[in-house]
Amino acid sequence: MPRDPYAVLGVPRDASEQDIKKAFRALARELHPDVNAHDPDAEEKFKQAAEAHEILSDPQRRATYDRFGHEGLRSGGYAPNFDAFGSIGDLFDAFFGSGAFGARTGPEQGADVAVTIEIDLHEAAEGVEREVAFEAIDRCEHCRGNGAEPGTPIETCERCGGSGQLQAVTRTPFGQMVRTMICDRCEGEGRIASQPCRECRGRGRRTGRRTLRVEVPPGIADGQRIRLSGRGHAGEVGAPAGDLYVLVRVREDERFVREGDDLVTALDVAAPLAALGATLEVPTLDGSSPVALAPGTQPGDVLTLKGQGMPALGRGRRGDLRVVVNVVIPRRLSDEQRALLERLNMTLTEENMRSQESMFAKLRRALGSQAA
Ligand SMILES: [Zn+2]
Ligand SMILES: [Zn+2]
Repeated sequence: MPRDPYAVLGVPRDASEQDIKKAFRALARELHPDVNAHDPDAEEKFKQAAEAHEILSDPQRRATYDRFGHEGLRSGGYAPNFDAFGSIGDLFDAFFGSGAFGARTGPEQGADVAVTIEIDLHEAAEGVEREVAFEAIDRCEHCRGNGAEPGTPIETCERCGGSGQLQAVTRTPFGQMVRTMICDRCEGEGRIASQPCRECRGRGRRTGRRTLRVEVPPGIADGQRIRLSGRGHAGEVGAPAGDLYVLVRVREDERFVREGDDLVTALDVAAPLAALGATLEVPTLDGSSPVALAPGTQPGDVLTLKGQGMPALGRGRRGDLRVVVNVVIPRRLSDEQRALLERLNMTLTEENMRSQESMFAKLRRALGSQAA
């Protein structure tokens, strides 16, 4: 059963045209999907309100309804069909024009721009400056963004009288409606260049290639982004520009694995040398550094070079370089090597094999160094 349009809009039977319009607008504002996204019945309620408004805002239709009710309207050929509109958003636009409920309040901010740079681990540790080049919308310098050829006046738009909006009366499946639209001549600006800028054709903006120096801070990690506020696309006149996001990719380094601020590297040491102990050069970010292996160094032992890791982003302290000893057992022995090892093996005693650590401590260390 269609509902009583007076009840739907909540107006008395002697309500003026103005009251009806006001009630409908207030109801629409309440039911707008931006405001009332959680009400599943909002769409149905708005359709009812729209129908009520269609009936009561037309004097002839209203008179028919007052005398004969919905039945009288139907036999008179009135058949509202709001389902012709795809969504409730379209329905709102049909009644009030797009952006009528505060969606567009001013000149639009520029969009963001994203670029990617690739650096190596050393650059990530030291920090680096990079030039990035990208396409961006810039303010037109010729007209300084106002869209008018320099020296020519900017006039009030004749079509909309400077309001930026047009009222259009249209016939729709459910009657005559007044809609508000953005002026198509001045695109809502209200003002228009009498002679559009010849460089940007009156847009005030143009696409250009831009280069920018980007400072990559020491300690940056792969996949992090640097945001340069206001360095993206220019906005419309009077609105801020978008931001530039620089995605930093740090190339993998075959010598180091990064673990937070620490670097981890593996050092191959032949088994006899690990037994004897030695001072060896290990690669560091800046070159190499000597590291002392104690006699009897075991596979998986970790030597730590303090402060030779990555700097912590935004703080001074550097992480450590952890050197994991990889004891290599010699393969493909010559006859002489075999003889030597056989002799050595004959001399080995329990004492040579005994560890200072208990098995439990060894396990804990192995697990701990993995978790660190
Ligand atoms: Zn221009
Ligand atoms: Zn206009």
